[in-house]
Formats: sequence, C-alpha cells, structure tokens
Amino acid sequence: MLKIDGLKKKYGQSMALDGLSMQVDDGSLYGFVGPNGAGKTTTIKIITGLLLPDRGTVTIDGIDVTREPASVREKIGYVPDFFGIYDNVKVSEYMEFFASCYGLYGLKARRRCMMLLEQVRLDEKADFFVEGLSRGMKQRLSLARALIHNPALLIMDEPTAGLDPRTRLEFRQILKDLREQKKTILISSHILPELSEICTDIGIVDQGRVVLEGTMTDILNQINISSSLIISTKGNQDKAIEILRSHPSVQTITIEQEDIVVGFTGDRQDEATLLKRLVDEGVRVYGFVREKGSLESVFMEITNHKEERLVLVHEG
Ligand code: ATP
Repeated sequence: MLKIDGLKKKYGQSMALDGLSMQVDDGSLYGFVGPNGAGKTTTIKIITGLLLPDRGTVTIDGIDVTREPASVREKIGYVPDFFGIYDNVKVSEYMEFFASCYGLYGLKARRRCMMLLEQVRLDEKADFFVEGLSRGMKQRLSLARALIHNPALLIMDEPTAGLDPRTRLEFRQILKDLREQKKTILISSHILPELSEICTDIGIVDQGRVVLEGTMTDILNQINISSSLIISTKGNQDKAIEILRSHPSVQTITIEQEDIVVGFTGDRQDEATLLKRLVDEGVRVYGFVREKGSLESVFMEITNHKEERLVLVHEG
C-alpha cells in the first residue's frame, strides 16, 4: 500500500530525514514510533503531500505522491496532531462543511456525516458547538472528518497524545472497527507501550531513519530470543557454570548471589535441553526463567537512548 524509499529532508542545515525507508502493507495497523524530533511528522507531511522531500520516493498503491498528488490525496485520510481553527460551528456543520469540499451536499452529505459521527461515537454531540468538545472528542471529530471521502489509508499523527486512559480505550475500539472495514492505518506516537498493544506492524524511527521494522509477532520473537536466562541454584554453582561455559548458546555469564544470569541465544528447545543437562549432572536448579523482553528494551538497545526521550510507560 505505502512504500517509502530513501527519503531525505533537510531544514536549513539540520537533517530531519536521513534516508528513511519503510513499507506499510494493505490492511495493517502500523505503529510509527520514535522519540521527539526523530522525523515522524516530517515523514507524514511528505506522505500527505504537504512537504516535498529533497530525495527519495513515496508511493501509495504504486502512485508517486510528488508526481500525482491529487490522485494520492483521494486515497489518504489525514488526522493531524492539532485540531485546527473551526471552533465556532456545530459538530454537524463542521462535518457538512468538509463533506461539501468533497462534493457531497444535502441529504447525501447529512447521511454520510451522521454515519461517520456514529462510527466515532459522536452522534449525540451533532448539535453541540465544536469549542465545547473535550480534547478526546475533538480528536474523534478530526478522525470522522478524515474519513469523509472513504480513504483506504488513514494517517494519524500522535492521535492519543494528551488523552486520558478511558478515552484511549475508546479510541482503540474505533481503530478496531476501522480495521474490520479493511482500512490501512498508520499511527505515529512516541508512546511505545500504547502502540505495541494494538499494532500489527511497527517501524521504529530514530534520527531520520527507520532502525527496526517488522510485524509485531516477528519483533516480539526476536526480543525473546535476545533476552537473558536466570538460573537459580542451591549449591553446585561451580558445576552449573562449567556446564554453561561449554554450551554453544551461552554468550555471557554473570553471577548475582544465587542467581546465574546467562546471555543465551538459544530457543525454547535449547532451554529445555540445557535445563535437563543441569539436572542430570546433579545441579539443584530451583529457578529457571527467561527474562521477558520488551519492545522498550529493544528500542534502548538499538538506539542507545536515555529513557526520558521516549515514553516507556503509560501516563495517567
Ligand atoms: P515529535 O514527536 O516531537 O513531533 P517528530 O519525530 O515528529 O517529533 P519532526 O517534527 O519530523 O520529528 O522533526 C524532525 C527534525 O526536524 C527535528 O530535529 C526538528 O527539530 C526538525 N524540524 C522539524 N520541522 C522543522 C522546521 N519547520 N524547521 C526547522 N527544523 C525543523
């Protein structure tokens, strides 16, 4: 659906995108995640035709966004990270105004707008003024507006920033409904756990490049494979270490009192074989666990960043 290849963009002397490449497949919910300043908004602006790249290509269903911006715009619904300026109108008027921009008027427009307001759970607010809506409601209204022309690809820039946990949950349900309608969704965020729970695919961006990309399943598998084994023994620690030293999947051994922390590259089968060998050779093993890897630890590992640059836990 969306393919980005070698995107470069400089603002003056400052490099915002440095050869960014990524691919979003049909029907996926792609989490585009990275710390502040990584290049997410710049990428989204280029995809949506609001900014031209210095180099590289972006295609949607094979159509180049810089060569055929009008055709591409029909395929994209864009929900920016700000709301805009149309406060002094009612929700229904706001929607119908945008419907008219797409050539929809009268009953047809009203029906389409009501259907979309129902979809984002705002139908009961149709006669309310936009300025009286909460932040979460404005966000959903923005989403309804982006859906007016029935785009196949929905792009949302930091859609859950500043929302309380309950509103986030509602938002997730709406995303689920959209996926059932076969929409492809790209969501940018600097809040990692939020995306890891809902996305099918993820692309981690840092300093203008995608540093890790794949399906959530593949990435989570990789994480488990690279995490440590913690083996607790009663006595016989030396024997355990001797066995571990000779094991091909053991990379590092660290002793922490009665625990042996093992950098282990094997899979579950290798874990089972190792455990059996320890027990067979008389080591009294009373704890044998693989540390649970997390997307957050992978991010830290590959980008070498300090935690405060990326939100690693849910706020609020
Ligand atoms: P955030 O999560 O904070 O929104 P981001 O990942 O969306 O960050 P961008 O907004 O794309 O990152 O910014 C990428 C880099 O480009 C940053 O270093 C930023 O300071 C710089 N930048 C962005 N817009 C401009 C601009 N209009 N003029 C100059 N520099 C800019």
